[in-house]
Amino acid sequence: MKVKVNPLKLLATYMDGYDNLILLGRILAAVSALLAMVPYYEIWKILRLAIAGENLDTIPTIGWTAVGIMLGSMLMYVMALMCTHIGAFHIQAVMRTRLMEHILTLPLGVFDEEGSGKIRRVVNDSTAATETYVAHILPDKAVAAATPIGLAVLMLAFDWKIGLLSMVPIIIGFCFIAGMMGPKMQESMKYYQNAMEAISNEGVEYVRGIPVVKTFGQTVHSFKRFGAAIDDFTGWATNYTTKMTAPMVRFMTAINAVFVALIAGAYFWGRNGVSPELVLNMMYYIIITPLLTVAMTKLAYSGEQEMTVVDAIERVNHILDMEPLADAGTKAMPTNHDIAIHQVTYRYPNAKKNALSNLSLEIPEGAHVAFVGPSGGGKSTTAQLIARFFDVTEGSITIGGVDIRDIRESELMEQISFVFQDSRLLKRSIADNVRLAKPDASDEEVMEALKKAQCMDIIEKLPEGIHTQIGAKGTYLSGGEQQRITIARAFLKNAPIIILDEATAFADPDNEASVQRAFEELAKDKTVIMIAHRLSTVENSDCIYVLEQGTCVEAGTHEELMTAQGRYCSMYEEYQKSVQWKVGA
Ligand code: ADP
Ligand code: MG
Repeated sequence: MKVKVNPLKLLATYMDGYDNLILLGRILAAVSALLAMVPYYEIWKILRLAIAGENLDTIPTIGWTAVGIMLGSMLMYVMALMCTHIGAFHIQAVMRTRLMEHILTLPLGVFDEEGSGKIRRVVNDSTAATETYVAHILPDKAVAAATPIGLAVLMLAFDWKIGLLSMVPIIIGFCFIAGMMGPKMQESMKYYQNAMEAISNEGVEYVRGIPVVKTFGQTVHSFKRFGAAIDDFTGWATNYTTKMTAPMVRFMTAINAVFVALIAGAYFWGRNGVSPELVLNMMYYIIITPLLTVAMTKLAYSGEQEMTVVDAIERVNHILDMEPLADAGTKAMPTNHDIAIHQVTYRYPNAKKNALSNLSLEIPEGAHVAFVGPSGGGKSTTAQLIARFFDVTEGSITIGGVDIRDIRESELMEQISFVFQDSRLLKRSIADNVRLAKPDASDEEVMEALKKAQCMDIIEKLPEGIHTQIGAKGTYLSGGEQQRITIARAFLKNAPIIILDEATAFADPDNEASVQRAFEELAKDKTVIMIAHRLSTVENSDCIYVLEQGTCVEAGTHEELMTAQGRYCSMYEEYQKSVQWKVGA
């Protein structure tokens, strides 16, 4: 646990000149806390006059002075909050802008790997946590630091003996919990954080697995690791609570027992007669000591928020530390669309083995090729490397003889349309969703694309046609229908290279034929790479590449590979069997 890290140091790079304003806010907060104690002096004066029975008519004036000072203190606190809020909003804006700018430079693959949901959470939640910290926690901490100083003055200025006596229970209280603070506490907190993280990770796995659990009639108990994580946390919490019970009870008792000390003091000092001064001071201390108790309790519970914000800033920094795509500076234009992969090796960051090793293949312009092979063979990785989701670890990929690292990113994106297995639509109108591919496209162009993508039956059943909002009430599109709309997007984009990664996998039988037809239409006159597990869809490809363990083990047309009696042939026979088996059943 990084309790030691000072969040302000971490925030320094985002301050952008607002550090002085924030400092002013903290000082104002501290002064306001000190000012809030002055009325207690006024109370002491009132008590003195009342006990002496003199100048009683000045009491209202003193009272109003106290009220005035109190209002001044509040006003000052409001000003403090204004300063820290302005600073906090600014820091948040700087963080978000920097994150967004940086995210745009990151390789597309990052969004897959880190999960765009996770990135969104950092952009939203972590920057919000920082905002709370700077706007509220920092001034509160200044108040917490100033209060003991003001209290010490209030306690010792009038009768230092009674003042010291009131502090004895507080000191005793802190002795009780002293053993719990320090390194031991930090270790416990670290355990706590890890245990919480384990529960949340396993929880996500559990929710993901619910469909499997339900269809196989299992219960939550089949999630051994989730159970273990919960048990582990329960054990820790019980143990920790038990260990903390006695010291905390002693602590709370001691700091709430200031009155006991005061009463004992009153008996002691009043044993030979009670002077008006003793009455005055006793009354005064009885009024102010609860302040001490409240301040000390707050102190004992602080610290946790610090850890939260450090964690939040580190998440932001983690994203900012990710390497953007390297920019070679030289910008070349490919003259044709031949794709060539030269001895490419790729290893995912933090992976133990290569996803691709020494892969070479060539896809001439206009060819329709297919990648097939077992799951994990490297099909998606190869396709994504061609679209430069990541940069190759070794080797190179060229389009039209130009290394894709030398092609301007926007230019490369113009060349390639990528259709994924689960392409999500945005919560906008259908027309806007299609138009993402070409923002200035007219309604007619959008319509044309939708027509080519076999979407007309979808449009016809929607209340407002192409202007229907996706996700609005009653507009439910099936996976296959959504897929056809994303194909319309690819039509509108009209890129010369098309990559389809298991794009028909989720289509329901009703949709499959239309999706298939849409793809055939889309593929006309284009260079196409198709990844498919239904081998029937790849039979007509100009070349089929069998990828296994990151290398190409076979290549050729369907006929060639069938006569060769190799990997593809046995895969195909397996596939035929499974299809027939389904039909037979
Ligand atoms: P395919 O598409 O043929 O099923 P992939 O290209 O997805 O295979 O995966 C190839 C290899 O790379 C597999 O061993 C897989 O575990 C690994 N891999 C895929 N994506 C990632 C990732 N984001 N991080 C680490 N390893 C990955
Ligand atoms: Mg894949």
